[in-house]
Amino acid sequence: MPVFASLRSSLLLVAVLASPVSAQDPVAPSLPSDPAQATVSTADVGLFWRAWDAWVADGQRPERLAPILQAEYLDKGSAGVRDFTPDRIISADALATRILEDRAYYERVRPITERIASRLPDLQGVYRAFEQRYPDAVFPTLYVVIGRRNSGGMSSPRALILGAEMFAGQGARLDEEDVLPMVAHELVHFQQRTSAERGGGLLGASLREGGADFIAEQIAGRHINTRVKGYGDSHEHDLWPRFLADLSRPDGHRPWLYNGRDPNRVGLPDLGYYMGYKIAQAYFQRAADRDAAFATLVRMEDPSAILRDSRYGERFGATTPAPSPEP
Ligand SMILES: [Zn+2]
Repeated sequence: MPVFASLRSSLLLVAVLASPVSAQDPVAPSLPSDPAQATVSTADVGLFWRAWDAWVADGQRPERLAPILQAEYLDKGSAGVRDFTPDRIISADALATRILEDRAYYERVRPITERIASRLPDLQGVYRAFEQRYPDAVFPTLYVVIGRRNSGGMSSPRALILGAEMFAGQGARLDEEDVLPMVAHELVHFQQRTSAERGGGLLGASLREGGADFIAEQIAGRHINTRVKGYGDSHEHDLWPRFLADLSRPDGHRPWLYNGRDPNRVGLPDLGYYMGYKIAQAYFQRAADRDAAFATLVRMEDPSAILRDSRYGERFGATTPAPSPEP
């Protein structure tokens, strides 16, 4: 298993390594506040490709892919795979269907997923930069998994999870260079003190996403989605009044977030990330105490106060009103 071995030796540079024997390691009961104690596991990447190779060796019949993925990947996978399954992988059948739709994509991205570990030594630097600016930080285990090409990452109540097959570069939404800012983004979500990304109305969701992008850029040195940022920058004056109007609508998030397949969205998919990023940036730039502002943006306890104090809307000749309470 040369791939597995090389992942392993790379990770030793990072931190403590999950056991290579099984990906089903118990989650640590308390989370480290020292970045040097943070654990990273790429065991699921090895499991996935071993399952793939077993399927190929078995004659690569389409109907055999789902049962092999179930037995050799999902059943043996880590807590990260388990947390990534309900909304993302869904099931072995769904994963097999996605793979068989475009098998060449997975074959092309395989070496990228297998060398993600080689990017992770830099992760310690990102974690340390975060810990220095946010001393309350905790560092859950990061699991690198293979998914259904619908999510680059998530934070669950116990872990950070990276969808390695998303970072394929050409023809994909994310590049290899996006790995560190994506982990940073999920790390920020883990520290946020408001509810899940999909709840809490347009303002809360946009600021949780865009605030995480802003902090990730601060600590990882790169914005995750340069394409959306470029579009937003060239349409900023048009976007603000539409965003402002949608803040008070009960389903106002739909044009702005999680809408890659929605033809009625505003501009490019997920422009709510951009709006939240710009509000967070304006808040930070206005703050007299940058350390306090950084912590406020990480915790994201009161999105309405952050919007108000950012005075972002004043750039467009309007006073920022207090938005309606979130549904
Ligand atoms: Zn997010």
